[in-house]
Amino acid sequence: MSDEEKELKGVGVKVKKEQMLTATILNIQRMSTEDGPGIRTTVFFKGCPLACIWCHNPESIPIKPQVQWIETKCIGCNICIDVCPNNAISLAEECIIINRDLCEGCGTCAKECPTTAMEILGKPWELEALLNEVEKDRAYFENSGGGITVSGGDPAMQAEFVAEFLKGCKERCLHTTLDTCGSTSKKVLDALLVHTDLVLYDLKEIDPEKHKEFIKQGNERILENIKYIKEFMQTHKRPSDLWVRTPIIPGATATEENIKGIGAFIGEHLSEAVSRWELCSFNNLCKDKYQRLGLDWPFKNQDLITKAFMEHLTDIAKKSGVDPNIVIWTGATKVEEKTDKSPEEENTSFAW
Ligand code: SF4
Ligand code: SF4
Repeated sequence: MSDEEKELKGVGVKVKKEQMLTATILNIQRMSTEDGPGIRTTVFFKGCPLACIWCHNPESIPIKPQVQWIETKCIGCNICIDVCPNNAISLAEECIIINRDLCEGCGTCAKECPTTAMEILGKPWELEALLNEVEKDRAYFENSGGGITVSGGDPAMQAEFVAEFLKGCKERCLHTTLDTCGSTSKKVLDALLVHTDLVLYDLKEIDPEKHKEFIKQGNERILENIKYIKEFMQTHKRPSDLWVRTPIIPGATATEENIKGIGAFIGEHLSEAVSRWELCSFNNLCKDKYQRLGLDWPFKNQDLITKAFMEHLTDIAKKSGVDPNIVIWTGATKVEEKTDKSPEEENTSFAW
């Protein structure tokens, strides 16, 4: 199978004997107001081709199910250690250690744990069951102009399933949003875009070298693909909307230079296509997730960004060559204290 065929099929997609498509899904979040217009049901697919150093959803990166240990729920019965078929669990100083190289995500420990301290992240869903599940929220969508968002991870990692799911949503007259990092093939984009009303597209870092440093791969394909989406919109009249999102990360993407560069790129290549550019302020809510997965997070001591700095970057974005009316900022900010430092000094220092 060629790389392109693998991408199109999606690593996590399995076709059963009766040809029922299944995908590995992390979570279904109802009543979301952050992943597109109106009230949305967002389906988080497992698997991401990128490795951003600040990733807020580390549990979504591997496509396989993973197990996590929640210390506060554990009563120390050691059942999980006894039942693991791969001897992947051990005890060290009153702490459960999961050997990720041995763990195959079978879920036995989570099933047998009497207190749900062991939890499996990522479950298989069949296509029809997922469509029936999301359709339960139809009344909310109709009253708010909302719909379905596929997110992750990156849904493009399980493209065959996601294309069928988006198609099924459209057949049920539900608004569809694709939230993607853009690191995929044009064939995969073709398969997904034709069933998509809105694309949420991440442009994180405009400098290719910094992109490699922060995200572990260059940004050339990502920049090419968003230009391709614009062409697709013109030729197919679908998707009808494209929103760009930029995570504002202290010590990484939170620079004037980066915002000016992304704005110049949008202004030059995407001006008629992009109807919203959202600067998303850094948050540290994922700190516990890293701990549960036994991972270190380089941003664990990092403060939130101040409101003044988000407004400053928003001003820069508005003057960067885009229609100023498309620029907004979102997210939580730090409670500001009186300081002698300028907003730039306050927010470009970082603790990781
Ligand atoms: S089975 Fe559950 S409660 Fe018992 S030691 Fe393992 S994680 Fe803790
Ligand atoms: S998920 Fe399966 S292999 Fe992994 S630690 Fe639990 S029992 Fe062992």
